[in-house]
Amino acid sequence: MTVFTAPAWDQHELVAFGSDRSTGLRAIIAVHDTTLGQGVGGCRMYPYASDEEALHDVLRLSRGMTYKSALAGLPMGGGKSVIIGDPRRDKTPALLRAMGDFVHSQGGRYVAAEDSGTGVSDIRLMAERTPHVSGMNDNEFGGDPSPSTAYGVFLGIRTAVRHRLGVDSCAGLRVAVQGLGHVGYHLARHLLDDGATVYGADVNEGNLRRAVDELGVLPVAAEEILALEVDILAPCAMGAVLNDRSISVLRAGIVAGAANNQLATAEDSARLQDHGILYCPDFLINAGGIIDVHHQRTGSANDEKRSHIERIELTLAEVLQRADTTRQPTHDIAEELAREYLRRGPGLSVAAPPLQAAG
Ligand code: NAD
Repeated sequence: MTVFTAPAWDQHELVAFGSDRSTGLRAIIAVHDTTLGQGVGGCRMYPYASDEEALHDVLRLSRGMTYKSALAGLPMGGGKSVIIGDPRRDKTPALLRAMGDFVHSQGGRYVAAEDSGTGVSDIRLMAERTPHVSGMNDNEFGGDPSPSTAYGVFLGIRTAVRHRLGVDSCAGLRVAVQGLGHVGYHLARHLLDDGATVYGADVNEGNLRRAVDELGVLPVAAEEILALEVDILAPCAMGAVLNDRSISVLRAGIVAGAANNQLATAEDSARLQDHGILYCPDFLINAGGIIDVHHQRTGSANDEKRSHIERIELTLAEVLQRADTTRQPTHDIAEELAREYLRRGPGLSVAAPPLQAAG
């Protein structure tokens, strides 16, 4: 396995491999950039098929966190960790404590939060060994940042709708939500409250049923959701869902969802643009969760957190406007804007006024 020549390597500041004989822990921590603060990001547990796959994921995800936190105006850098293993089979309290030791050994350059395959209770076990964890407070949602992520994505959708369709709500619009888990469920609720018709698909029958029975989501087969004739597609399941094959069958004019790393390759942002699809960069509109984590750490009031999440609308509006002016893909513009914030360095924090149009 190579690291410095790995495809997802991007001058990461730190990549650490950790193992623990007694608990079977095998984990990687990656810190991409600490210009704006400690590398904060989720600890993902997943049964990766190979070490290379785990490395690829942690490198990509930690880079994404740098950009996400920078655009959200957070005093945080980009980090992420992965535990190689099946969370349903391999997760034990001892393994999570060992992960806590591993996080602690990085001296605070990385701060762990929950992610796919881990939850608030797991972070609490890590916290027995290290203070460098976040997102485990008992807030209105019990520490789970997903409702905040869903709220930010919903605001992103409304901003895109305003920009593309010139209307102020989703009333009468059709939205396809792929994945009705933690984020997708709450997103569907916001959309329905706003008057949209929501179609949903999930490979997990229980999650699909819950959204259908409790919210009134219209069920669609998982293999049909991407090509559904709708106004908006919201990918809220897994990454790399937008690729050369899928983009050619999409019928939605707007793509805006929570999933991380929705674009399979860098070329897919231009491909979406060529197909006339307005793409809302995932790392911009799904920042509600990391904003929530930040406010849990600082102990701020809920309305402060809420207004911070609402700044996603301003940032996205700026990206869409710049994309119109320059005719560049939205994803590229959002990355460029994040790099501008990184160049400006620390100081652009939550205490700062809303993000301004820069240049
Ligand atoms: P989750 O695991 O709770 O939900 C994902 C859902 O997608 C599950 O119900 C799963 O069964 C379903 N799914 C998987 N493959 C599918 C497929 N092919 N078709 C349809 N459904 C499928 O995860 P989540 O916390 O809701 O996060 C969703 C996405 O958003 C992930 O990519 C995550 O990385 C990203 N994200 C989450 C947060 C957060 O706060 N939870 C923050 C930022 C980004």
